[in-house]
Amino acid sequence: TLTVDTLCTWMNKFADKVETNRQHLSDLDTPIGDGDHGFNMDRGMKAVEEKLATKPADLTSGFKTIAMALISTVGGASGPLYGTAFLEMAKKSASTDDLNELLEAALAGIEMRGGAKPGDKTMVDVWDKLVPEVKAGNLTEDKIKAAVLATKDMVAHKGRASYLGERSKGHIDPGAESSGYLFEAMLETEG
Ligand code: ADP
Ligand code: MG
Ligand code: MG
Repeated sequence: TLTVDTLCTWMNKFADKVETNRQHLSDLDTPIGDGDHGFNMDRGMKAVEEKLATKPADLTSGFKTIAMALISTVGGASGPLYGTAFLEMAKKSASTDDLNELLEAALAGIEMRGGAKPGDKTMVDVWDKLVPEVKAGNLTEDKIKAAVLATKDMVAHKGRASYLGERSKGHIDPGAESSGYLFEAMLETEG
């Protein structure tokens, strides 16, 4: 189960990873996109950290605050998608504080909003593989890395990378990498 305190810890750890790897995320986005993913996410997570400096009253308002900060600052394709993930968790948190159920709602929201399916070389590939691992209590650092790396040999069917067709092969998807950081931060928060 998630609390306001663990949510804030999770987000601060995610923000740290995004900041540390900002250039790397943008470098991943350069050959198959427009080279801005790290800068987009770092801007967004800095806004999230600032908002969460004031402790939210409850889980629902915490998720809502995060969603709004991401939607208004990240931009690009990833902003509305991460924003939707957190908005869906806000909605779900009215009836449960169970992390598995919250993550399942987030994944469903990302899939509905972006229309990507597993195998399309997007952040969905990481969420789709790792949400069930969280549910089974089997999430590990290695599984996160494997889920991210699996996007490397996929052909992109959604987002900017899809414009490249077959040439999108051989590059890790930047949104998959940033989602990997989100799950790593979660693992470190629980542990
Ligand atoms: P933009 O492509 O607009 O510059 P970003 O660079 O911030 O946005 O984000 C790109 C990432 O967004 C991709 O690596 C991919 O993981 C994700 N993405 C793009 N389109 C979709 C989609 N339709 N569904 C899921 N994820 C997507
Ligand atoms: Mg981009
Ligand atoms: Mg862009």
